[in-house]
Amino acid sequence: VKGEGRNGYSVYDDGLMEVADARQRLDSELRHAIANGEFELHYQAIIDARTRRVCGAEALVRWRHPRRGLVPPLEFIPFAEESGLIEQIGQWVLRRACVEARGWPDDTVVAVNLSPVQFRRADPVAMIRQALADSGLPARRLEIEITENVFLTGAEDNIATVRRMKELGVSIALDDFGTGYSSLSYLTTFPFDKVKIDRSFTMNMTKRADCAAVIASVITLTRCLGVATIAEGVESHAQLELLRGAGVDFCQGYLFGRPAPAADLDFSRPAAAKQ
Ligand code: C2E
Ligand code: CA
Ligand code: CA
Ligand code: CA
Repeated sequence: VKGEGRNGYSVYDDGLMEVADARQRLDSELRHAIANGEFELHYQAIIDARTRRVCGAEALVRWRHPRRGLVPPLEFIPFAEESGLIEQIGQWVLRRACVEARGWPDDTVVAVNLSPVQFRRADPVAMIRQALADSGLPARRLEIEITENVFLTGAEDNIATVRRMKELGVSIALDDFGTGYSSLSYLTTFPFDKVKIDRSFTMNMTKRADCAAVIASVITLTRCLGVATIAEGVESHAQLELLRGAGVDFCQGYLFGRPAPAADLDFSRPAAAKQ
């Protein structure tokens, strides 16, 4: 027979136990997934806004779970970042992306996301150098996407690390631009090659004058700094036309294609935007 207080505590304990159990299960399933090669990469085309040519693709990881099917990254990457498993997953992603991109036309790039956590432990520069050497992919064909979170902790060290990456010859894109606290200051801190304007701006630009204004001024500003722009999440022709008018360099979004296996990429002709 449970007392009231006792019951209260036990419910609380059960809740914590469940969370702990779920984390434990996810941890061991992820370790199993790493050992058994359950990850795959999908690629989303990056389009030259002027010529509409597919000039590269971003690698986006998926987990082919034996029971749950294809698991999207947001359901395991944050956990992998907390537990440190992102290091091994991220290394696999990079190596796989370099190998697959090696078979694409020589003037295309492959973009790979790097977690801020990957800066904290092993040396990401050595990892990139090794992946390039093993795959034979020229450094100029690899683009590393980082978010400004990289500069929040260990800022000085991380800026130095990103500089060393650039010295390898890879290009650096600042992802999710506009979502952080002080995005603009990062543009003068580091010589990025590209800035990816976050989908939250693209999504609203045809409905909200303020979002359109932010995009237009980001494009103007980055051009002055010699930095190229990619608009993420382009879903409609109306968005595309506004972006082209504002002078965006590259576009990415469902209008041109969803992330899909590498075999679905077609570099041979201009991307046909869906009607
Ligand atoms: P992200 O780097 O900002 O990637 C863009 C996300 O937006 C992708 O989701 C993509 O499928 C989605 N997207 C692209 N175009 C459109 C569009 O037109 N409309 C809408 N609604 N969505 C669009 P996904 O693949 O689920 O990836 C989510 C996030 O997971 C990524 O955001 C990235 O932060 C992370 N991620 C994915 N792969 C990796 C990886 O290999 N390593 C690391 N560290 N993070 C990864
Ligand atoms: Ca990205
Ligand atoms: Ca992004
Ligand atoms: Ca994002």
